[in-house]
Amino acid sequence: MELYELNLYDVIEGLKAKKFSPSELFESCKKRIDSCEDKIHALITRTDDFAKSQLDENPAGLFAGVPTILKDNMCTNGIKTTAASKILGEWKPPYDATAWKFLRDAGAVLMGKANMDEFAMGNTCGSSAYGATHNPNDLSRVPGGSSGGSAAVVSAAYVPFSLGSDTGGSIRQPASYCGVYGLKPTYGMVSRYGLISYGSSLDQIGPFARTVRDLQLVMSVIANYDPMDSSCFRNKNHDFSHNENPSIKGKKIALVKEFQDFTLDAPISDAMNKIKKILEDEGAVITEVSLPIVARYAVACYYALAMSEAHTNLERYDGVRYGYTVNDASSLKEMFERVRSYGFGSEVKSRIIAGTCLTEPKRCEEYYVAATKVRTLIAQDFAKAFNDVDFILQPATPSMQPKIGEVDDDAMKGYEADLYTLPVNLAGLPGLSFFTGYSENKLPVGLQLIGPRWSDSELLHAGVVIERHTGDPKIPDLN
Ligand code: GLN
Repeated sequence: MELYELNLYDVIEGLKAKKFSPSELFESCKKRIDSCEDKIHALITRTDDFAKSQLDENPAGLFAGVPTILKDNMCTNGIKTTAASKILGEWKPPYDATAWKFLRDAGAVLMGKANMDEFAMGNTCGSSAYGATHNPNDLSRVPGGSSGGSAAVVSAAYVPFSLGSDTGGSIRQPASYCGVYGLKPTYGMVSRYGLISYGSSLDQIGPFARTVRDLQLVMSVIANYDPMDSSCFRNKNHDFSHNENPSIKGKKIALVKEFQDFTLDAPISDAMNKIKKILEDEGAVITEVSLPIVARYAVACYYALAMSEAHTNLERYDGVRYGYTVNDASSLKEMFERVRSYGFGSEVKSRIIAGTCLTEPKRCEEYYVAATKVRTLIAQDFAKAFNDVDFILQPATPSMQPKIGEVDDDAMKGYEADLYTLPVNLAGLPGLSFFTGYSENKLPVGLQLIGPRWSDSELLHAGVVIERHTGDPKIPDLN
């Protein structure tokens, strides 16, 4: 077995026991990246030299010497951060995102910044200004998005874990497409400070890994209070320690009544049946909940809010403060126009325009304000459901991994495909995307378990129970 193939837990134990050194591990991961990156194109920036300089300082802490990769919308002090957009040019942030700071303080070593949809808008990685990422399990297919690069680097074993962000499904959908585990934490569990904002009331950072235990390890480091993010939890203790033998006996796990009529690709509905059976065998009670407002209005509500927030958040890219600019404009207006016309891709532009319309004074009540009210009703839908049940089981996506280029022209179809993930962000809930096995044509299939706010650690315990039956994903042979 090569060192790069080790899961996070084994990496930490191996380093502690001095079975191998941080530099040996670094070289093994670097070799893996060198040999696969031409095929997968998961990285926007490689940071080998920075990683070496970190190793020279003999990092200490729980993750001492553990290589990782961050989605390229997380600020890294002095290291190019693009959000996969031309508009940020060669911008180097002057500070670290808090989640990365926590990892860095715990000794983690940065190997690179991962590809993503531009400003995290999309679900294929196809809107990146840096080209598409390929799914390591089938190079002709998308890895999902927007955190497609972060999911691909864990699936292909560049590193044992990575960070992504999830505004409407961007951790859970690519995790399921790439056959890894991904957690979208409760809103407020992980600091958003230094995460390039898309929809600030929805954005949340979370981990990707190849086992649930590894997600627990990452959460134990990044789920920490940060005074720099006013939405970050305070005065709460979150225990992400691993329990060897968790039980879901007697837990009520629900399917959503309204979703039963919607079509799913066969491998996904097969996986639903398989996991239902596993949960029952483990003593859980499978039941049903009704989420009528979610089923009917969540997609429209999410896109109205996400686009409105995006249009405000992206106002700051004006050619003055960040990255790309032009020096020969004859007026300020011309500069803004030229910078923004060239700098933003078409999906981002259309969302800025939509967001502008949704929030302009004459229409604001009718659209943006109405969407905020619907959002409250959606949160109530879930709150009612969680009065009766412990978790909700549902797909992370209705369809299997499309071929690269197959879906990018049909934005509406992409929006609708987020139905299973985005309600979770609207209600601020945690969602675990877990691996269930492979389809007949060897593509990984994932599903999602959702819990009430702050139930992240129980959700992960339930994930451990499921994982006992499904086994870990295989690292694709890419040589
Ligand atoms: N696909 C959704 C969107 O484009 C979600 C993206 C995300 O979670 N960042 O908005």
